[in-house]
Amino acid sequence: MPGAMLGAIEAGGTKFVLAVGPSPDRILARHTIPTRDPATTLAEAAAWFAAQGGESALGIGSFGPVELDRASPKWGFITTTPKPGWADTDFAGHLARALGGVPVGFDTDVNAAAIAEHAASGRDGGGSLAYLTIGTGIGGGLVLDGRPVHGIAHPEIGHIYPRRHPEDTDFAGICPHHGDCLEGLASGPAIIARWGASLSKLPADHPGHAIIADYIAQACHTLFASVAVEEVVIGGGVAQTPGLVERVAERARALDAGYLPGGERHAVIRPRLGTNSGIVGAMMLARAAAGA
Ligand code: ZN
Repeated sequence: MPGAMLGAIEAGGTKFVLAVGPSPDRILARHTIPTRDPATTLAEAAAWFAAQGGESALGIGSFGPVELDRASPKWGFITTTPKPGWADTDFAGHLARALGGVPVGFDTDVNAAAIAEHAASGRDGGGSLAYLTIGTGIGGGLVLDGRPVHGIAHPEIGHIYPRRHPEDTDFAGICPHHGDCLEGLASGPAIIARWGASLSKLPADHPGHAIIADYIAQACHTLFASVAVEEVVIGGGVAQTPGLVERVAERARALDAGYLPGGERHAVIRPRLGTNSGIVGAMMLARAAAGA
């Protein structure tokens, strides 16, 4: 029935996933479009939603950086991204207008995924979890005591500096801002830049597997130690390398060395929702916006 449907967008740097349905666990239609310039991409998204018969609210989980401060005139904007054409784009406002003034929920793609994974964990109302995506870039979303964390902007856990692995001291890293931050060392493009192939294509005995697992495990340990999450959920393309999440879990346990309180409950896991965490989280943002 038109008007009771929720719309959702998982906005990535290479593709937008669009979905509609009456609730986050009932997606009735889904469509993927390539990410091009903002005018083309947002117009195509709006046209698809219009063709579905009308939505009562829209949820957006977006690549960033984004403005999440509701008091800012730039709320709902993509702000300083290096992605050509997308800096200073009024993402939420553009779509709200295009869809007839519907309420819009807006957050980072990784916070949307973290919200959905938290809901899927069954810890209603409480519990703490981080969602890390390891792919073209590295990003992290946080739900602490049941609430998504924004801070003054939003966390950028992909840009922490890990301790360098002793077998990986020559590679300078590829982050344009930091060189050898986590993203500069362990993202998909960083792996290809140093070894000429994706992690899943490297031989099983290649040292890259242990090196990348070590860097991601350091991020997990940082999250366990700094914000005391119970779980780190690891998604994204690189994380689909067979055995990687298990290596990360094992390495994170070794890094903790039995110290952290509650450490026996710490878990490094694959997404419960598979590759659907982001779009389901965007549907949850839409549901929250509809109720606001
Ligand atoms: Zn960086």
